[in-house]
Amino acid sequence: MEQVSARLASLSPSETLAMSQKSNELKAQGFDVINLSVGEPDFNTPDHIKAAAKEAIDQNFSFYSPVPGYLSLRKAVCDKLKRENNLEFTPDQIVASNGAKQSVCNVLMCVVGPGDEVIVPTPAWVSYFEMVKLAEGKNVIVKAGIEQDFKITAEQLESVITPKTKAIILCSPSNPTGSVYSKEELKALADVLAKHPQIVIIADEIYEHINYVGKHESIAQFENVKDQVVIVNGVSKAYAMTGWRIGYIAAPLWIAKACNKLQGQYTSGASSIAQKASEAAYTGPQECIGQMRDAFARRRQLVINLAKEIPGFKVNEPDGAFYLFPDVSEILGKSHEGKVINSGADLAMFILEKGMVATVGGDSFGAPECLRFSYATSDEKLIEAMKRIKDTVALLK
Ligand code: PMP
Ligand code: GLU
Repeated sequence: MEQVSARLASLSPSETLAMSQKSNELKAQGFDVINLSVGEPDFNTPDHIKAAAKEAIDQNFSFYSPVPGYLSLRKAVCDKLKRENNLEFTPDQIVASNGAKQSVCNVLMCVVGPGDEVIVPTPAWVSYFEMVKLAEGKNVIVKAGIEQDFKITAEQLESVITPKTKAIILCSPSNPTGSVYSKEELKALADVLAKHPQIVIIADEIYEHINYVGKHESIAQFENVKDQVVIVNGVSKAYAMTGWRIGYIAAPLWIAKACNKLQGQYTSGASSIAQKASEAAYTGPQECIGQMRDAFARRRQLVINLAKEIPGFKVNEPDGAFYLFPDVSEILGKSHEGKVINSGADLAMFILEKGMVATVGGDSFGAPECLRFSYATSDEKLIEAMKRIKDTVALLK
């Protein structure tokens, strides 16, 4: 008898990965699909990082690594945090994992128990809600719409904190909105959270380097919450290394120890070769980051201009990441040949089927009035995709 656990039955599949898979299936059937669904840099991993991985293979880095990662990698991460963020961490506060995805999940598993509340400023990345469910916690959604640039205020935060609040997941620059919290905005949130030292602040900074407004600001810089913050970051986005699967936490020692214990029973240390490649990413030349960011910045402007021309799309100007998250409320309720579009997910499916462009409905990000598309692809593809989206949306009456 096939019967998955209740835990699994209540879990939704990842919509970002599902839409990407659907797009790949259509491509395999010969359809000319443009995939703007999954968010990952379209650049190759820089050569010096690939060379370090090849060298690691030749030097027989083929044995189990320490569970939290090689000391040399964890030292390189500490140096990065000092150099770029002016934050002091020791290697025993760093745990490397199979991507920032596992890092977030590890922390939730370690600090959240049945019935504990986790505040999720929304729109938020699809996986947060499901990871909270896996940890048997309760998602407490704080919604920020396009009119407030998708960013929650200190007052909103304060109003949802209860004695059961165990954690908050803050993502800046944000997936899916691209919004970036300013230093002042983070300080206001920190001042609220400092009054509740039991709340662990999971600061997902995976898009740190894809920031068009200047310097990255981390909530970990504020002394009053320093002992509550777990920074999550990794090499996927900054160094175009999504497939290498290395992320990390920089955390208070008790959380790092807990994640180490969990990981020791669950996955062991992450890939030895990928760790050596990541070490090279942090210790080697950093020009590649700026070059990729400049390319994203150009595409961002292109895509904003084109999206603004689509009737029914209300567009914010994202300060970071590589997503556009238009509010499509005006389109909802319209139909084509009897098919009514009731949500962003309906619209994404319609655009895929009729326009051959893969996007992701805002539903699984907690914002069914929106649509997400990634602009981490070539100018030519973006221009063609936006034309197709415009033509497809025009069919809806
Ligand atoms: N956090 C956010 C906000 C992301 O968008 C992603 C990428 N899907 C991750 C974490 C996970 O990144 P990684 O590839 O390092 O697991
Ligand atoms: N960051 C990407 C996205 O949101 C990767 C896919 C995923 O892991 O969700 O599209």
